[in-house]
Amino acid sequence: MNIKRYISLMALFCLILAPLKAQSYGHIEIISVEKNTEILKKLQKLELEFLMEWKGRIYIILRKELIDLSKLEIEGISYRLETGNFYPYKSREMISIQSGLNGDYHSYSEVETDLLAIEESSPHIAKLYDIGDSLEGRNIYALKISDNVLMDENEAEVLFIGCHHAREWISVEVPLLLAEYIVENYETNPEIKRLVDQSQIWIIPLLNPDGLEYSIHFYRYWRKNRRNNGDGSYGVDINRNYDYKWGFDNEGSSPETFSVVYRGESPFSEPETQAIRDLFGQRHFQALISYHSYSQIILYPWGYISQPSEKDSLLSDIAVNMSNLIQSVNGTLYNFGQAGSSLYLTNGDTTDWAFGVYDIPSYTIELPPIDILLGGFFNAEEEIQAIFRENLPAALFLIDWAIQDYDPQMNSIEENRKIFREKLLRPKRFRKSALK
Ligand SMILES: [Zn+2]
Repeated sequence: MNIKRYISLMALFCLILAPLKAQSYGHIEIISVEKNTEILKKLQKLELEFLMEWKGRIYIILRKELIDLSKLEIEGISYRLETGNFYPYKSREMISIQSGLNGDYHSYSEVETDLLAIEESSPHIAKLYDIGDSLEGRNIYALKISDNVLMDENEAEVLFIGCHHAREWISVEVPLLLAEYIVENYETNPEIKRLVDQSQIWIIPLLNPDGLEYSIHFYRYWRKNRRNNGDGSYGVDINRNYDYKWGFDNEGSSPETFSVVYRGESPFSEPETQAIRDLFGQRHFQALISYHSYSQIILYPWGYISQPSEKDSLLSDIAVNMSNLIQSVNGTLYNFGQAGSSLYLTNGDTTDWAFGVYDIPSYTIELPPIDILLGGFFNAEEEIQAIFRENLPAALFLIDWAIQDYDPQMNSIEENRKIFREKLLRPKRFRKSALK
C-alpha cells in the first residue's frame, strides 16, 4: 500500500502497540496536522497512531482513552479534526470488529480448515502442501490445483499469493475464494476444466500468518511479519525481503528496524520469503499475481526504478486485459502501470524478484478500495464476494495466458532442474505472446 505516505514517519508507528479491546474502537478521533519536523518532534512524545500522509498533512488516530485533544493544545500543536471525513473508515472498522474479531475474514486457523476441506472434497485435483514454517511456527500453505495433481506434469504453471502484509485482510480472501471457485466448478464448467487440465495452479492465500494473527488480535494496522529485531522493534516487511535489487536504495525500502518497510538483515532472511524462493526452485512458474490492498491498481515491474523494463509492452498488455476484465464485472476501474512510475518505489519485492530472476510476468494487484476515504484497509464483509468476483476473470485470464504461452519442449519434466539453473544464469525468454 501507499508507502510514500509512510516512509518518513516510521517513528510514529512505534507509539501504540498496546492490545486493543473491541469496545475501544468506539472512542476514536482522527486529526490531521501540517507535516513539518517541529510538529513531528512534538507528536513523538504523545501516544498517537499514525494513519496516513496526504497532501502535506499527517493524519493521526487518537484514542480518547489514551489522550484527549486538550493535550495537543497544551503542546501547542494546531490540528484539524477530521473524524467526520472518515466515517466509512470508522463504520467499516466497527463492522468487522463487532461480528467477532475478524468477522467473515479468515484467521490463520480458518484458512487452514478451509484449505484442508478443499483438499478433502476434491483430492483428485487439489493437493495441499506445507511449504515452510513461520517464525511463530505456523504453517505456510500452498494449494496445488491440477488434473493428476499428485504428478508434476509438463504443463503451464501459475502462482497466486495473498497476504504479504498482515492488515490487508481482503488479500487473503481473494486467492482463497479463487481456490474454492476453481475446485467447485471443475466438473460443471468446461472452461474451468480446460484451465485446470492444462495447467498447474498454485495458491498461497496466507503468506504471513503470524502478522495476520497479530493484526486480528492485537493491532489492526500491523503490516510486517513478527520477527523480533532484538532492539525492541518487531517485524520485517517481507515484500521488501526478496533477493533482487534488495536494498537498492532507502526510498523503496528501509534499513531501519522500526520502519514499516524494514527490509530485513539480508535478502531472504525471513521464512516467508524463503518459502517462495524454494517453491520457485522446484517449479517452473510462468506468471504470478501477488494480492495486496488498497488502491485498485495493477502494478508490474520494475518497482525499484521508474524506467520501464525491456518487456514493458508485454507486461502492460496483460495488465490492460486484466483491468478490462475486472471492469467488465462490476464496473470497478482498476488502474494499471509500472510500479516504480505509478505509485511509489519499492525494492526487494516479490514481483521485481520473479521478473528479474525468472523473467516471468508478475503482478501486484492492489485490491479496493481506491483510497483511505472509502475505507483503506477495511472492506465491509459484504463486499468480499464482489471483490473476488471482479478479480476472478483476470486471474483466469493469466492462467490461460500461461497455457497459451507454454512450450512443452522448453520444460520437459526431466529438464526442470537444468532449466532452473539456466534461468538463473540466462533468463528464459517469452516465447510468444498469446493475448486476446
Ligand atoms: Zn501490501
